[in-house]
Amino acid sequence: MNLLRQAIIEKGKALSPNVLKVDAFLNHQIDPALMEQIGIEFARRFQGEPITKILTIESSGIAPAVMTGLKLNVPVVFARKSKSLTLVDNLLIAKVHSFTKGVTNDISVSKDYLLDEDVVLVIDDFLANGQAARGLVDIVKQAGCKLAGVGSVIEKGFQPGGDELRGNGIRVESLAIINSLENKQITFREE
Ligand code: 5GP
Repeated sequence: MNLLRQAIIEKGKALSPNVLKVDAFLNHQIDPALMEQIGIEFARRFQGEPITKILTIESSGIAPAVMTGLKLNVPVVFARKSKSLTLVDNLLIAKVHSFTKGVTNDISVSKDYLLDEDVVLVIDDFLANGQAARGLVDIVKQAGCKLAGVGSVIEKGFQPGGDELRGNGIRVESLAIINSLENKQITFREE
């Protein structure tokens, strides 16, 4: 995805050797045209799978997940990170440690929106240590659904999450894989 790489190079900022800031197009301001291309690319990569639902986590996973849902013509469910007045029972819950915030939260999804006949594609903005993706995969399993795979917009290849998921037999598709953020230089893993 050249467009995504270009956006990362032109608008991304390596805040430290571990953290990439992409507030200009993904985590704060959203570039809809780029999100649409991301949706098209995830839909292309997973087109052979009988996906019936997309699962993501609020808030930054929602934009790429919705665009992918639009292209695959399936609904998008997002896990909530905090308690909701309207989401109180009939819940699937998993624990997720936040890489950026350093806290552990229960994430929750209503059982109403993940049925055991669903084939689920998990989408998120970043894949770092894999906590968020593992929490979402855990919820897919609790619901008795089939997992089609995990799609991440940006994987930090120098952190273990992506390779651990692949090692567990899960299909992981990342649209850009960062090799290093050392010295504030963003380099990509060549594919
Ligand atoms: P993981 O659970 O894989 O360790 O981290 C994934 C989650 O942490 C993503 O949902 C994302 O919100 C956040 N995250 C992890 N690394 C980064 C990063 O370098 N930059 C930004 N903006 N978010 C990140």
